[in-house]
Amino acid sequence: MTDALARRIEDRRDDLVALTQDLVRIPTRNPPGENYREICAALEARLTPRGFAGAWIRAEGAPGDSAAYPRWNIVARREGARPGPCVHFNGHTDVVTLGDGWTRDPFGGAVEGDRIYGRGTCDMKGGLAAAIVAAEAFIDEHPGFAGAIEISGTADEESGGYGGVAHLAREGWFAPGRVDHVIIPEPLGKDRICLGHRGAWWAEIETLGEIAHGSMPFLGDCAVRHMGAVLAAFEAELFPALAARRTEMPVIPDGARQATMNLNALHGGEPARGPGDTSLPACNVPDRCTLQIDRRVLIEEGVDAAAAEIGALLERLKETRPGFDYRLREINRVIPSMTPEDAPVVTTLRAAIADTLGAEAAFVASPGSYDQKHIDRIGALRNCVAYGPGILELAHKPDEWVGITDMRDSARVMGRVLERLLLP
Ligand SMILES: [Zn+2]
Repeated sequence: MTDALARRIEDRRDDLVALTQDLVRIPTRNPPGENYREICAALEARLTPRGFAGAWIRAEGAPGDSAAYPRWNIVARREGARPGPCVHFNGHTDVVTLGDGWTRDPFGGAVEGDRIYGRGTCDMKGGLAAAIVAAEAFIDEHPGFAGAIEISGTADEESGGYGGVAHLAREGWFAPGRVDHVIIPEPLGKDRICLGHRGAWWAEIETLGEIAHGSMPFLGDCAVRHMGAVLAAFEAELFPALAARRTEMPVIPDGARQATMNLNALHGGEPARGPGDTSLPACNVPDRCTLQIDRRVLIEEGVDAAAAEIGALLERLKETRPGFDYRLREINRVIPSMTPEDAPVVTTLRAAIADTLGAEAAFVASPGSYDQKHIDRIGALRNCVAYGPGILELAHKPDEWVGITDMRDSARVMGRVLERLLLP
């Protein structure tokens, strides 16, 4: 990178810390999705004096959107001096609930040594702040740059992104031609490029039975025992089959490089009894039992095939097990997404990491998912990665923190990306 840009970013170290603190001090917990308006206003107030024009977009009608909790998003755009590509940095503004175990103020942004503490420091207000400082330093150093820079702050990533990036993509904000390169500064580490993520298929399986008195279970048909047969088939057939499927995607950690399924929740029969409940249960043969599954899907499998495999297993049970009947209901689906290693944003980031950090970038993919799915499927833009500071394992934990040196280093990498893409 030009030494001048590196110096400009170094000179803004205190500003980078202060900006991160400002964002962390706006509690944007989701659910319920609070203070999105306030954080969009803070981003606009920050970026407007630097020549960005901010567009406010509310995802009206999205899940959770209401008068009390409107799903506000902002896209701030800075035009260059002449035509050229648009580089877009997208950060989600929401953070997850706090949980127990905090020893610092979760919305205080305390600095201790090289760390800033608080909910969202790592995931991902620190990354958003790093992108903003990188862009501002780049604009000051190279006012004649070509193309455009966009910075968006979007809602609801932690709850699927439907009130955020999915809505923006549907409205054309990520259309190829409008935006050329997208970097999502999620906390993957300053020398790793996240190419994409696995897919997911969430569903509820319900087995059906017939109620009867519990002293004469032979007069009914036990839905829990039918679910037991489903679980037995999963253990005997499905789990071994999933474990044998390895993906070419560089998913981390290694255990997620295969197809997986979590049994998320199971319930049959009488309601669960609270700890202080001294009443006796009614004796009934349960006539329904439900199981929620969370199947994570490899790009080689596809979501349809993953769903069909479970459907076929249930159909086989229906043919072979007396009295077996079921319902299968899809709850949510996420397509697997992977940007090719030779996509321009990937090769540019890789070169920028080598220029700036002297390191060979590692390619990774996420075991869960993030907003790339919407930019890929709805926006039809396949030149998108996640790259940003922070340690992924700290996300959603108590005493979450982000390293200040890591933020600075990834800001330098992002500044270098802008130099490689937007200078003649
Ligand atoms: Zn995140």
